[in-house]
Amino acid sequence: MRQRTIKECVILDGIGLHSGKKTCVHLKPLPANQGIRFKLPGEPSIKLSPKKVVETILCTSVDLGGTYLKTIEHLLSVLNVLFIDNILIDLKDGLEIPILDGSSKLIFDKVKKVGIIKQPFFKKAFRVTKKITVNKGDAQVSLSPVEEKVSSTFSFMIDFSKRGLTRQYYSFDLNENNYYQQIASSRTFGFAADKPALARKGLALGANTSNCLVLDHNGNALNENGVFYADECVKHKILDAIGDLYVIGNRIIGHYEANKASHALNNELLLAAIEQGALQKILFPSVSSRSSLKMMSTNPATT
Ligand SMILES: [Zn+2]
Repeated sequence: MRQRTIKECVILDGIGLHSGKKTCVHLKPLPANQGIRFKLPGEPSIKLSPKKVVETILCTSVDLGGTYLKTIEHLLSVLNVLFIDNILIDLKDGLEIPILDGSSKLIFDKVKKVGIIKQPFFKKAFRVTKKITVNKGDAQVSLSPVEEKVSSTFSFMIDFSKRGLTRQYYSFDLNENNYYQQIASSRTFGFAADKPALARKGLALGANTSNCLVLDHNGNALNENGVFYADECVKHKILDAIGDLYVIGNRIIGHYEANKASHALNNELLLAAIEQGALQKILFPSVSSRSSLKMMSTNPATT
């Protein structure tokens, strides 16, 4: 399987969920082996990696040399599912990826519209070689090996029953069709009662029913048209996790399982998996090929 980039520039503009301010990024093609890179105006580009993730409260942010860019997870989720290896995320205005409608569907549609091109270098992946688990309070997240040659599965459980939102569980095998039909339209969600406290912390300043699923104290949607999926909240947590894991820059072949996990815990999981040598870098296995996997390296931190 070959590396991929986008065929032409994609412009994302709107407001930031947390800043509430206007923001605009241009997604641009990059040559092979460049990875996912971010660029501030007038600055050299910086390659994304798990160690560059900072400030994971209600979103995933990346440290661009002391300047933090917020809410990168929905864009990364689309890059993961569409197998995009090389891309420049060029910031034109603001320090947040626009929230758009709160889901990843509009980003997915825009990237698909310009098209994706294959590049003359082999694609790589990380294969989980042993189970890694990270806990915080009653939240838990893990990565486990899978027997299948090419399989990335996500299982998530959330339980906000104390806040009226009953337990939701969803398990999902990552591929483009499944993602578009089952995951892409799930929106960022939050409880209306939390908004004043979040606003005092400078968070969710741009949140409203046009870009979030807003829940009342009974867990019911305040949005005019209600929920998009009955289990929209847990599906959005999977959308986020697919993005959070892609800060490593390659698809992870394994089973991700989460119980009440957060962006912070997802990043801790990645760092623990790297630290404990649980991710083996391989050439992305061809689905049709019967040849054995070619091992590239045993430690992604060195690549
Ligand atoms: Zn999200």
